[in-house]
Amino acid sequence: MLTCKEITALVTDYLEGKLPFGQRVKFWMHMSMCGNCRRYLRQMRATVKLAGQLPTAPPPPEVRDALRKAFRDRKKPG
Ligand SMILES: [Zn+2]
Repeated sequence: MLTCKEITALVTDYLEGKLPFGQRVKFWMHMSMCGNCRRYLRQMRATVKLAGQLPTAPPPPEVRDALRKAFRDRKKPG
């Protein structure tokens, strides 16, 4: 039987569909018996969903400057 600590370590893999079948069964078994982990899973799922909806962060200024410079250099005639 997995402990709550092991479950919390597996949640991300579970949500990403990375858990092998055997692990998933153990995961479900724990979930069926542990309200705390069910709540944790629900929170994580909401968090992942939210993170997926966020727009990509703009690149930091130094990256932007480098890109701009590279672009400008490329457009230089000759
Ligand atoms: Zn638990």
